[in-house]
Amino acid sequence: EITDTQLTFAESEPLNAEIKVWAAGIKAPGFLTELDGLETNRLNQLKVDTTLATTLDDCVFAFGDCAECWNEGNERSVPPRAQAAHQQASTLYKTLVARLDGGAAHQFVYKDHGSLVSLSDYTAVGSLMGNLSKGSMMVEGKLARLFYVSLYRMHQLALHGFFKTGLIWLNDRLMRVIHSRMKLH
Ligand SMILES: Cc1cc2nc3c(=O)[nH]c(=O)nc-3n(C[C@H](O)[C@H](O)[C@H](O)COP(=O)(O)OP(=O)(O)OC[C@H]3O[C@@H](n4cnc5c(N)ncnc54)[C@H](O)[C@@H]3O)c2cc1C
Repeated sequence: EITDTQLTFAESEPLNAEIKVWAAGIKAPGFLTELDGLETNRLNQLKVDTTLATTLDDCVFAFGDCAECWNEGNERSVPPRAQAAHQQASTLYKTLVARLDGGAAHQFVYKDHGSLVSLSDYTAVGSLMGNLSKGSMMVEGKLARLFYVSLYRMHQLALHGFFKTGLIWLNDRLMRVIHSRMKLH
C-alpha cells in the first residue's frame, strides 16, 4: 500500500517516504516463453536478429516491447520505447512487402532521437538527439512540453491518420472546457 507518507510492504517493515519513485522494469507476457521452439530471454522477450526475425525461425518476426534486438557495437539492446517500436514497424513493413516479391529482408538500425518525460500539463524534461542537436541536447520547461505534445500528436497521426487525429484533438480541447480540472468524485 502507498499512502501520502508511507510505503507498506507485504513482508517487511513499512517505510516512511513523502516522495516515491516508481522504477519497476517491464516484462513481456509469459505466454511468449511457451511458443514452441522460439528463444526468449529472462524478460520473456523473443530474441530476434537485426532483420527482426526470431533467432530460431526466420519466418516468425517480433518487434516492439516483446522483442530483444541488438544492433552491432551497442552495449545495450534496443530499448522498449515507443520510438523503437515505431521504427521497427516501418522496417518490418518494408521486409514483408519485399518478402512477398521474393526480396531480401531489411536490416533494422535503431536511431535514438532522445527521450522526453512529461512532468505535468505545463512542463516536461528530456534530451533530444539528432542531426540538429549534434549529439545530445537537454531541454526542459515549456519547450520540452511543446516537443512532447508534438510527438504525441505525430504518434496519433501515424496511428489514426489526419482526419481522425484532427477529431481527437478537437475532442481533447472540448473535454478540457467541459471537464472540471479537479476530480470531483
Ligand atoms: C507508464 C509507461 C510510460 C511510458 N512512457 C514512454 C515514453 O514516454 N516514451 C516512450 O518512447 N515509450 C514509453 N513507454 C513505452 C512504450 O509505451 C512502449 O515501448 C510501446 O508502447 C511498445 O509498443 P508495442 O507495440 O511493442 O507494445 P504495446 O504498445 O504494449 O502494444 C501491445 C498490444 O498487445 C496487446 N496484447 C497483449 N497481450 C495480448 C494477447 N495475449 N493477445 C492479444 N493482444 C495482446 C496489448 O493489449 C497491447 O495493445 C512507456 C510505457 C509505460 C508502461
